[in-house]
Amino acid sequence: MAASLLRRGAVASRQRCPAEVLRRLVSSEAAPDRAPSRPPPEMPPFDHRPRPYAGMAGAEIFEKRKAVLGPSLFHYYQKPLNIVEGKMQYLYDEHGKRYLDCFGGIVTVSCGHCHPDIVNAVVEQTKLLQHTTTIYLHHAIVEFAEALTSKMPGNLKVVYFVNSGTEANELAMLMARLYSGNLSMVALRNAYHGGSAGTIGLTGLQTWKYPIPQGEIHHVMNPDPYRGTFGSDAAAYAKEVEEHITYGSSGRVAGFIAETFQGVGGAVELAPGYLKLAYDIVRKAGGVCIADEVQSGFGRTGSHYWGFQTQGVIPDIVTMAKGIGNGLPLGAVVTTPEIASVLSQKIQFNTFGGNPVCSAGGLAVLKVLDKEKRQEHCADVGAHLVERLKSLQEKHEIIGDVRGRGLMLGVELVTDRKEKTPAKAETAELFEKLKDLGVLVGKGGLHGNVFRIKPPMCFSKDDADFLVDTMDYAMSGL
Ligand code: PMP
Repeated sequence: MAASLLRRGAVASRQRCPAEVLRRLVSSEAAPDRAPSRPPPEMPPFDHRPRPYAGMAGAEIFEKRKAVLGPSLFHYYQKPLNIVEGKMQYLYDEHGKRYLDCFGGIVTVSCGHCHPDIVNAVVEQTKLLQHTTTIYLHHAIVEFAEALTSKMPGNLKVVYFVNSGTEANELAMLMARLYSGNLSMVALRNAYHGGSAGTIGLTGLQTWKYPIPQGEIHHVMNPDPYRGTFGSDAAAYAKEVEEHITYGSSGRVAGFIAETFQGVGGAVELAPGYLKLAYDIVRKAGGVCIADEVQSGFGRTGSHYWGFQTQGVIPDIVTMAKGIGNGLPLGAVVTTPEIASVLSQKIQFNTFGGNPVCSAGGLAVLKVLDKEKRQEHCADVGAHLVERLKSLQEKHEIIGDVRGRGLMLGVELVTDRKEKTPAKAETAELFEKLKDLGVLVGKGGLHGNVFRIKPPMCFSKDDADFLVDTMDYAMSGL
């Protein structure tokens, strides 16, 4: 069976070279209809009727956006989607067509689109008081900070609120440098930590980096079990960190930053045991350890509330954003009182950080996640989804790797399993097909050949089945 599938895969890839697929993707020429003869899978029923939309049409928005917004903006799909409404794990376009959202506004919608409890908290606070800054007292910011720190292990007891993940990482790096008295930061290749002048240096993906001074950052080898040089050998990667510090720096570093589950880099879970070894090495060299939980926090991995807990470590600084606000512009840096105190040497101020509306919304997010037991739900649905994706991998030669845990998953597509050649064109083709069939996934990895599956955490087993059946349907037509 497997051999015949293998043969079929080989014949298929000989018949349709990537260049041909690419050419068709960039031209307007329609792809020949190779859909299987069976009807496409049906989306699970959902009791919500979207409001009729009478606003600007997608085509017009697209033209105006090109004229008035910066040209660096990119969009998904050849014909970009105009999404006008969202409810829990579903999105609706301008024509009222429903989509299963498997990417949650880039891993940001944690509780669900327009979750009533969060909407209510935001609306009620907005009606009462929207903004004053921290020059006056307000109960919402301390209530939120208390709730957030109650979720943290160890002595991670003090919060700085900011507005985004980039800002959180900027602040974390600043604190690491001030606290340690050193300059060098160690980061992982394939990491994404932001696009500001400072965090662009931490980011380890050339597609996101501009040629500006990168600020004394040392990128060490990525402990990537699938593509990494040492496979899952955490000790070998850790040794490289040690050697890098010894030979490539003054021997003293400010800090180390890592996502436990690389998001933009293509849903890569770090080799088991790596963080513990790396943290020890970095601390011996005078540095502090920063966990970037912008994507992996708040129970999404299912097994733990925070991604770093999957590696049995306690960081010195934790940065977060995205899921913390379910869509509100909100970020946070949580650290120890000692490290936090370095920022009192001068004035450190953030106009919107911890404003009443975002704090009320953020607190509502934490409550919903607990009330609806979303961590357990992610473990349950995620295990089912991984199992189904692994069976799909047995059927379709193009699936090179299925990885992750909870609702933090990646499916990497390759044209050759042994060489792990990125199936760039095929991924792009499938991506469009999935959208046409009502499924929105994310795309990531340096070569854009990884489907990122990180839906709102209310995503159900029926949704998971629909997603996998739809992937199967689309792949069968490749
Ligand atoms: N860290 C990680 C892990 C991220 O995925 C991102 C955003 N993709 C950031 C930091 C930066 O967050 P923001 O876009 O909110 O600045």
